[in-house]
Amino acid sequence: MVGEVVFRDVVVIGGGQSGLAAGFYLARAGADFEILDASTGPGGAWPHTWPSLRLFSPAEFSSLPGRRMPRADGGNPDAQHVVEYLRSYEEHYGLPVRRGVRITSVDRVEGGVEGGVEGGAFLVRSADGRRWRCRVVISATGTWSRPFVPFYPGAAGFRGEQLHSAAYRGPGSFAGRRVVVVGGANSGAQIAAELAGRLNTDGGDLLWCTSGPPRYLPDDVDGRELFRVASAAVRGGGGRGVAALGDIVVVPPVLAAREAGLLEATPMFDRFGADGVSWDDGRHERVDAVIWCTGFRPALGHLAGLHLSRANGRVVADGPRVPGVPGLYLLGYGDWCGAASATLVGVGQWAKAAVAGAIGGSGVVRG
Ligand code: FAD
Repeated sequence: MVGEVVFRDVVVIGGGQSGLAAGFYLARAGADFEILDASTGPGGAWPHTWPSLRLFSPAEFSSLPGRRMPRADGGNPDAQHVVEYLRSYEEHYGLPVRRGVRITSVDRVEGGVEGGVEGGAFLVRSADGRRWRCRVVISATGTWSRPFVPFYPGAAGFRGEQLHSAAYRGPGSFAGRRVVVVGGANSGAQIAAELAGRLNTDGGDLLWCTSGPPRYLPDDVDGRELFRVASAAVRGGGGRGVAALGDIVVVPPVLAAREAGLLEATPMFDRFGADGVSWDDGRHERVDAVIWCTGFRPALGHLAGLHLSRANGRVVADGPRVPGVPGLYLLGYGDWCGAASATLVGVGQWAKAAVAGAIGGSGVVRG
């Protein structure tokens, strides 16, 4: 297979929830497509999250198009429940996912011929030398592979441990230690809540540092609200992104820690010292570990050859479309390419829009 070129009308890069949602509509439209995914198993990023992670929405409001997520015992689903759902989704619809394929480049090829190969407008290459020619690329590579850690003075000289939330695997290794959790969104709140309960009993200490006061969504807001925001945006109501609603969905562990007074946020420190963190007002805290719950960036390195236009450091997108690059669609990266598109409940509408654009008059996107 290496060296040979595969022709497809549409190539979807990424087989997580976003890629599968696109696959659902492509299959319905009878399109000629393939989903190429770097992972060796289903579930996208979900198999890699920490064990106690809970969805911020109940199962019935965390479904991809066409197939309800089964209810989860004991409240909002955990990551393993999502992985099983995505596995069953892929199998149920018989989606053509080719795994173990890491795409390293996507280039436009003008005219019909490049290197003696007819047809298609994009040449997609994988790390192991395989190539696809296609008319449309839907990029759904997520953000998990690009954890973001902001710069703070002195960080390189800090002798304690630093890890991003993507590497967090639970409270066990932090017993008895003085830990700073940085970040006031869902990951920060959920990890701070889990650690607060444990460190409080084993002589450790937790400091939850946020750049501003934590913004909790109203206690009753969850996937239903995300769906409403996404729907309003798709209906052209110009709906606000989910982020505008607040930062933290109050899932039960967060509610319990907050009610117990264990979730007190501290303003962000200003710099590191060798043994801890300091503030401009002179305060210093000796610290053993810092967990950065500071989000992710879109994994778009494979699209570098397309030289996409950027504004304010972000690719210019109109929903999933990329103005000026016909045939390229971006799916699931965040509100900037579709309100709530980076959520299970919100990605479906943008997948439908991308596929409708992708296949144009050549097929009908129903459902
Ligand atoms: P991913 O799940 O990251 O999947 C991308 C796929 O692309 C992966 O399989 C990867 O292997 C593959 N890939 C990447 N690069 C390449 C490449 N170059 N070539 C080939 N394949 C590639 N959403 C909710 O709806 N509810 C929640 O409660 C919720 N909680 C979240 C908690 C955390 C900690 C995080 C990080 C996100 C959460 N989200 C939640 C947001 C969102 O649902 C997830 O980020 C989800 O994983 C996004 O799905 P995706 O398919 O876009 O990306």
